[in-house]
Amino acid sequence: MPISSRWQVPIPRCSLQQWIFGSANGPVGDNKAFIDPDKPDSNYLTMEDYRLLAKRVALGLQREGLKKEDRVLIFSGNSIVFPSVFLGVLMAGGIFTGANPTFVPRELAYQLRDSEASFLLVAEPALKTALEAAAEAGLPKNRIFVLSTNTSVPVSQLTRALAPGPAAGNNVAAAAGVRHWTELLAGNLTTAETWSWEEPADPEQATCCLNYSSGTTGVPKGVEITHYSYVGNGVGVVHMTNLRKNNEEKLKRDRGLCFLPLYHAYGQTYFIANLPFLRIPVYVMPSFSFPAMLSHISRFRITTLPLVPPIVVLLAKSPLTKQHDLSSVETIGSGAAPVSREICEEAEHFFPPLPDGSKLVIRQGWGMTEVTCTALGWDPTTDAPPSAGVGELTPNCRAKLMSLEDGGKTEITTPGQRGELWVSGPTLLKRYWRKPEATAETVVVDADGTRWLRTGDVAFVESYGPGAIFHVVDRVKELIKVKGNQVAPAELEGVLLESPDVADAAVVGVTIRDGEKGSDSWEVPRAYVVRRPGSSATEQDVARWMEGKVAPYKRLTGGVVFVDAIPKNPSGKILRKQLRDRAQAEVGKT
Ligand code: AMP
Repeated sequence: MPISSRWQVPIPRCSLQQWIFGSANGPVGDNKAFIDPDKPDSNYLTMEDYRLLAKRVALGLQREGLKKEDRVLIFSGNSIVFPSVFLGVLMAGGIFTGANPTFVPRELAYQLRDSEASFLLVAEPALKTALEAAAEAGLPKNRIFVLSTNTSVPVSQLTRALAPGPAAGNNVAAAAGVRHWTELLAGNLTTAETWSWEEPADPEQATCCLNYSSGTTGVPKGVEITHYSYVGNGVGVVHMTNLRKNNEEKLKRDRGLCFLPLYHAYGQTYFIANLPFLRIPVYVMPSFSFPAMLSHISRFRITTLPLVPPIVVLLAKSPLTKQHDLSSVETIGSGAAPVSREICEEAEHFFPPLPDGSKLVIRQGWGMTEVTCTALGWDPTTDAPPSAGVGELTPNCRAKLMSLEDGGKTEITTPGQRGELWVSGPTLLKRYWRKPEATAETVVVDADGTRWLRTGDVAFVESYGPGAIFHVVDRVKELIKVKGNQVAPAELEGVLLESPDVADAAVVGVTIRDGEKGSDSWEVPRAYVVRRPGSSATEQDVARWMEGKVAPYKRLTGGVVFVDAIPKNPSGKILRKQLRDRAQAEVGKT
């Protein structure tokens, strides 16, 4: 019997923007939504501004010819305008897709082609990469808009300027022969003030996002998330947040700090949707910096921190941590990759008791792009002792563990026994964008019509029944997670095979352990390579081949090993488990 969440919460059948704002023109409150931590008094957007700026982006895109379901690719680090651009795309009836701002042209061109994006909005520092990628993908220059917050007027004023283009724009776009995003806003202030977006006819079918993920196998794919799924994820997270003791008081003092990337499901759902829905102000950092994070926490009295494991490690190990006042922080979550309890405890040590006298506990959650974001998390009222578990099922979700021995045919019902985690619920992806085979491999429809996502993660539960606590302990999919970022072995293998020195290649993740008891660990890609006959390339030459062809975090920092043959099964599939074990044994030895 699958395990069900303890909570069934109704999901409104509306667009994501309707859920966040309540309406296109009604009151939304005048609190600040997004604040620039470097200019907090002058550069911010209120909830009203957030919606108005998004509406202007929507009207601008429609004027440029955006049609329903056209994809718009945002290639940018974080900024306080990013959320408005995101929602502007949705309000216009388009589909958002975001790329990692450290991508090289090859990677961006792939996503432009794969999504068949009609528009590209690019942050100024990434323009050179974007131009190369767009030329490769055949996207005309008049569909490229430079996105910049480096304007001569604060964004809050820009939002309400009649024709912000010439005044606020800069010469970079013109010099490159592309457009500036403020052109999208020109002349539409008055219309935007009373304009209403068209609600999707069927929010369960209307895709709002293509968040890229390699899933359990292969190269990155566009994960189609519908408005309904996005709202469903938000409703679940908000429901759990609101369970907190003294929630009303807490909501008044809550403040978020955003340094997780907004192109990825984790930062995106949390900061663009869930916190604004709760009217919690968000300080937006352009990118992650540990010293800046610490000083912003104490200066702005940040209360809630969604983290990834490398940041928990920094909190635990850096001498900077104890130099800052972290007394405002009340909730810390970690997700995207595993983190040990020992490291969490080391980090917790630096936080004073909470206002009610209890101890702050770092709790892990589990999520996946294919379930919009979150499916496992902790009930905030729990008094369970801290554990390395990832919590229980979030509202409306179901899960089961399937045998690793028989390819997922038998359901496991014994506490403590490991199996592949399968998840079901309203937040499941609609499908992979234009990849029916990948969808069929990953989403299994059972006899009663329930759609199950094979997550490729290995988990066990402490006990069976509602409220069961899950532990995610391993992965059977190909995916490698480097500091929370996805790295798809199939993609790196493809790049290696383009090298004249490489006859065959396989890439696997290897976990490097550090610290006492190996509590501090991280995963990196390691390649096994068969050289072409006659090649005298060294391991370093092969590793260097990746430079400029993949983003820095995807490089082969786990090493390159020459082999005579890549182990494969009779049908030619790489025996990844065998290579992973070999890599772990080799790296463990050095
Ligand atoms: P993404 O789609 O980029 O969010 O990556 C999802 C994958 O990250 C999951 O399938 C897991 O392999 C991994 N992951 C996320 N959260 C955790 C966690 N708390 N512990 C272990 N792995 C995790």
